[in-house]
Amino acid sequence: MIRLTRKVFTDLAIWMTGLGLVMGLVFPFFVVMMGVPTEHVLTPWFFAATMTAGFVVGGANIWLARNVVGSKLHILADRMRFVEANLMEISRTGDANKCTPEVCYIPVDSEDEIGESGKAFNYLVKALAASHSRDAAVSSFSAMLASQLDLDVLVNKALQELLQHTNANAGAILIATEGEMNVTASQGIRTPDSLRSSDHVRLAMQTQKRMCVGLPDDVAVEGVLTDFRPREVIVDPVLYKGVPLGAIILASAAGFTNEAKSLLDLFGQGMALAMNNALTHDRLQKLAALDPMTGIYNRRFGMARLSEEFSRAVRTTGPLGIMLFDIDHFKKVNDTYGHLAGDRVLMQVTKTARAALREGDILMRYGGEEFLVILPAASKENARDIGERLLRMVEETSVADGDQVIRVTISVGITSYPELDVAGELDLIKRADEALYSAKESGRNKVIVK
Ligand code: GH3
Ligand code: MG
Ligand code: MG
Repeated sequence: MIRLTRKVFTDLAIWMTGLGLVMGLVFPFFVVMMGVPTEHVLTPWFFAATMTAGFVVGGANIWLARNVVGSKLHILADRMRFVEANLMEISRTGDANKCTPEVCYIPVDSEDEIGESGKAFNYLVKALAASHSRDAAVSSFSAMLASQLDLDVLVNKALQELLQHTNANAGAILIATEGEMNVTASQGIRTPDSLRSSDHVRLAMQTQKRMCVGLPDDVAVEGVLTDFRPREVIVDPVLYKGVPLGAIILASAAGFTNEAKSLLDLFGQGMALAMNNALTHDRLQKLAALDPMTGIYNRRFGMARLSEEFSRAVRTTGPLGIMLFDIDHFKKVNDTYGHLAGDRVLMQVTKTARAALREGDILMRYGGEEFLVILPAASKENARDIGERLLRMVEETSVADGDQVIRVTISVGITSYPELDVAGELDLIKRADEALYSAKESGRNKVIVK
């Protein structure tokens, strides 16, 4: 149809009233053909009347078209603007409830082009809302990943989100450390540790490919791992630059949709990067905290722990024991057997101390051959017992150097808060150091409590 103006309804109005006028012009001749005498019909007045009638009918038609069709188109246009505003809001706030079918769909009540347009519009809204909520899920997942460096917290939060967004009923995340798979997070799995030796996990890690294991109803499942019967299990390796860092395992009672699987693809990429960052951070933290030779806390990190423990002791008014010990005549060991043998003695003393201390005691290398031990909940008396045990164990231990045997002893200084009421942890160390000095002064190889 030839366009006359830039407005469809104006074009329609011109066509309709034009057609009305033409009909009005032609009508008198029809009337003549039907036998009405020409002198009554072919008069200016009759022409004027029929053309006016044609014009009025054309005008009425355009009014009807505007009201019947135009109003429907108006609803569609209004709804489009409303949906656009809501989708913008979803991308800003992530609130996917802003565009549910109830809120954004238009009612379809006609079976014609208008109805088809309505249906097409609703499909479009559905697709847009799905894509927006997917974007929102991925960006909130990424934000969560970016805000976490603690591997345990990261992996547990990630599992929660994965379960929620893929509609899985159970799942676990395994991390490969020193060639072994460890279950770092799990939910809904009866015996998570059994996943470590799973063939599917091993295969997914080897092939670096996702494994989707379908379990049809007629297949018997042995060694049921979950409280429900899974229809599908996904084992997804987490790959960072081609290196498998771990695996995500998800089980669903209903099976996974393609949408869930492609969402898992997107989540997996962010997950690998975040997991690599957290693992690196973990390693660096350990490196920064540990003394390279003995593998125990270094002084800087150990003092930070002491500060925490002292604050806790003050808060809970529980006792906190402090032990400082130093190898006796260590210079002589170095001079006699050499520095390397001295190092081995230091490592052996560390090992002995680890064995003598309780679980939860914190051992640090305070100086060259001087060690500090934080003894949570230990009174002076408890700490003395531990000190005496350590003293005996060191005395009984020896280090072989060729055909020679090196034996050392230690001197130990001890105190405990709040029996010694101090304002800060440094005052505790000062007192333990005084006790250690007394032990050295009074003949070494002994425990002094002050
Ligand atoms: P004392 O009984 O009074 O403690 O006598 P000592 O000889 O142990 O005296 P002191 O504590 O002053 O000597 C510390 C020595 O420990 C000096 C230093 O050469 C040695 N030393 C410190 N760190 C290391 C180390 O990492 N390896 C070795 N082999 N020796 C170390
Ligand atoms: Mg010494
Ligand atoms: Mg010393």
